[in-house]
Amino acid sequence: MDAAGRFITSFVGELDDAPAKGPVLSAQLAHRLGLPPPDGPGTFDDLLDTFGQAARHAMETAGPRFFAYTPGGGLLSSAVAELLARAVNRQTALSWAAPGLVAMEQGVLRWLCSEYGLPADSGGLVTTGASMGTLSVVVAARHRHLNEDFRDGTLYVTAHTHFCVAKAARIAGIRPEHVRVVPTTPDLRMDVAAAAQLVAADRAAGRRPFLLVATAGTTDTGTVDPLLDLAALARREDLWLHVDGAYGGFFQLTRRGRDQLLGIASADSITLDPHKGLFLPYGTGVLLVRDPGALRAAHLEEGPFLQNAGAAEMLPNYAELGVELTREFRGLRLWLPLHLHGVDVFRDALDEMLDLAAHAHDELRRIPGIDVPWRPDLSTVVFRDEAGDEATRRLLDRILASNRVSLSSTRVRDRTLARMCVLSHRSHLEHVEDALELVRSAATHRPADPPLTAEGR
Ligand SMILES: *Cc1c(COP(=O)(O)O)cnc(C)c1O
Repeated sequence: MDAAGRFITSFVGELDDAPAKGPVLSAQLAHRLGLPPPDGPGTFDDLLDTFGQAARHAMETAGPRFFAYTPGGGLLSSAVAELLARAVNRQTALSWAAPGLVAMEQGVLRWLCSEYGLPADSGGLVTTGASMGTLSVVVAARHRHLNEDFRDGTLYVTAHTHFCVAKAARIAGIRPEHVRVVPTTPDLRMDVAAAAQLVAADRAAGRRPFLLVATAGTTDTGTVDPLLDLAALARREDLWLHVDGAYGGFFQLTRRGRDQLLGIASADSITLDPHKGLFLPYGTGVLLVRDPGALRAAHLEEGPFLQNAGAAEMLPNYAELGVELTREFRGLRLWLPLHLHGVDVFRDALDEMLDLAAHAHDELRRIPGIDVPWRPDLSTVVFRDEAGDEATRRLLDRILASNRVSLSSTRVRDRTLARMCVLSHRSHLEHVEDALELVRSAATHRPADPPLTAEGR
């Protein structure tokens, strides 16, 4: 235990200066790391060493200059919670087996439901991530609206919807051509009128619309779909409204975020990723549902070996609400940091992210030759080299060559964009400034005369 503690302190202490990317994993080392376990015992210190070496051959996702994909950081208090939960090893699939712990987890879920304005009898589940929650949503919505014969079931997304929805639909047996892509307005939001038309046309053609997926913070650009109008459409057309808040949902804890997410209270379900917006370690998602009965109806099965089970009054059996049976006390990962630090610390951190992204946007706009097409709704800023896609890729390569920051890229409307997402509790102004300085310098030191290929604006 002491050696593990020392290891963690040293690892986390080095994060501030860690390179953006560790060394390339050699075939030799990969082979050594993958060796089968020996018949006899090993030495803990040696094994810790091996683990540390393996962990350093990686993208530095926990450091303060990680602005690629969707950061989260990884709060140490949550990792400690995880160790505690694993050490007591309670089973929280069925509430009678550990009612006290399930009561704690329920407290967090009830608090979240109230933050989003969901009714008192709403509920949910702590999942391993938004993908898992989304699968349960598609199955629950399918079950409620279409029952067993769902061949004609049709759902609605945009080009910026996370692919986990299409993946869940495929697993749930929805035909790929019935995942309908609604056009977006010039500011990249779902076009509500176009969605209404598509739903009407699908009904006329004999398809059965059942699920409308809005995104509260797209992965591409952090854009929030028009939730109020989509809620009205879902009501009118009797569709299940799902809001994907995996990236942006926790901005609801801030006043500005609440304004952006207006309408989220009308959702039938919301997916959240505490491993993004609450800075918790990977593997922690949340699914909130207006009607837990709909989740239960879609997931409930019974086994003859579970007959002796009593029932814990008032507490849900999580196994009846999702895909998993055996599960750890996942809720402590949320409960401990929230109770230990208090909610205000999270509000302030998320507010800081909004400020940092606004600052990055303003500064990027000042750099000659850099185009910043959209003002961020939340904490994701995208930009490009005015000279075109190839130039943008080269610009990004020059930034990343420093091995000091991580940014990523995406494609929106057939154009390549560099992307900076600020969402780690370890990222502050100085780290964003580091990234901006690298962009400035990469934009100034463009290599002379890029080849004159048929590219550009
Ligand atoms: C990350 C993300 C997902 C997928 O979540 P996982 O936790 O990786 O399963 C879904 N939607 C959005 C908007 C995301 O940012």
